[in-house]
Amino acid sequence: MSLLIKNGRVVDPGNDVDAQLDLFIDRGIIAETGAGLELEADEVVDAAGKLVVPGLIDIHVHLRDPGLEYKEDIASGTLAAVAGGFTAVACMPNTQPVNDNLAVTRYIQARAGEVGHCRVYPIAAITRGLKGESLTEMGELSENGVVGFSDDGRPVENGSVMRRALEYVRPFGAPIISHAEELSLVGDGVMNEGFVATELGLKGIPWVAEDAMIARDVMLAELTGGRLHVAHISTRGGVEIVRQAKKRGVRVTCEATPHHFTLTDEAVRGYDTNAKMNPPLRSEDDLAAIREGLADGTIDAIATDHAPHHFDEKNVEFNLALNGIVGLETALPLTLKLVEEKVIDLKRAIALLTCGPAGALGLAGGSLAKGQPADVTVIDPDLEWTVEPEKLHSRSKNSPFGGWRMKGAAVATIVGGNVAFRREG
Ligand SMILES: [Zn+2]
Ligand SMILES: [Zn+2]
Repeated sequence: MSLLIKNGRVVDPGNDVDAQLDLFIDRGIIAETGAGLELEADEVVDAAGKLVVPGLIDIHVHLRDPGLEYKEDIASGTLAAVAGGFTAVACMPNTQPVNDNLAVTRYIQARAGEVGHCRVYPIAAITRGLKGESLTEMGELSENGVVGFSDDGRPVENGSVMRRALEYVRPFGAPIISHAEELSLVGDGVMNEGFVATELGLKGIPWVAEDAMIARDVMLAELTGGRLHVAHISTRGGVEIVRQAKKRGVRVTCEATPHHFTLTDEAVRGYDTNAKMNPPLRSEDDLAAIREGLADGTIDAIATDHAPHHFDEKNVEFNLALNGIVGLETALPLTLKLVEEKVIDLKRAIALLTCGPAGALGLAGGSLAKGQPADVTVIDPDLEWTVEPEKLHSRSKNSPFGGWRMKGAAVATIVGGNVAFRREG
């Protein structure tokens, strides 16, 4: 099977390429790139007016499989991924049972091989049962395809457990991924602490709950030399802590979500539970800081924290609703919106979705160089569409962007040389 993608604007930030080029894919590998390639192929894709980029990589999704398939499973989650332009996702371990052992990791890998539409990289738990007490078998898990460790959904509250995790993981290369929250400061808060929370009469979560834990984890990374990745950074202080740590040479990376660079706590007005997430939507000033971090390289990756929930888990009063939104199918246009708003340029935007996340977790991909696996996303940057949650490919429909006009979408998502998704019409 060979595929020729002609006449597209190839943007491959990892290799410093932005040019009108053709791409020839043969047997799953990028076999040739160049202008005006005259090669026989089984299929030709005309990409005139389109962007041709390395397959997008989302390093933070919840596929809910095993155990919570009524929200999402590996088939539906990876279909949502390819529909959103992603050719690879890394999935968090807070499933039932928790991915804290090789049996669950192998189940995810096998299931992804059978029904997955894109590559699936398991992230395993830092501690058994996400309980924050004893470490998982990190060495064994690393050797069997686990790409990172996280108790996501919960912080590792005990500092000495986190210290040992960072020490233990050092020889394996995989990062410890911090879900940074100081729970005693979170209390029973349900949204960002501030003016809007006061007006709505909802309990607030202060920025310091996040900053304090990021600071602790960054310092532990500095102490141990272990690799730290900060998930869904959402505060000005958090971005500044990572910026300064990077200057000192600490091995730290971080990601931000589309909702944290697009929405503020104003979105909670009306008590819309689709605006309830963790970390919460923050202030205008925090949003500006996230955008600065995306622009100056402090933030390495855009990740969705795709968190499907059933209608019944959101259709309750705000205090009781579960946290999180689906994000795989709206991430690309929201990132391209940053380009339109001149926050970042196109090359930086694509880097944040490709080589940036690949680098943060040490994954393959994120490159269109000759000889690389042919994971490629063809994007129509001008395609305008309206978000209709019912039509998303995810099993769950909990999006705060319902009714939003979006510009830009993946029109073809190619995984290992095969067209895994094609947008019709
Ligand atoms: Zn989290
Ligand atoms: Zn998460």
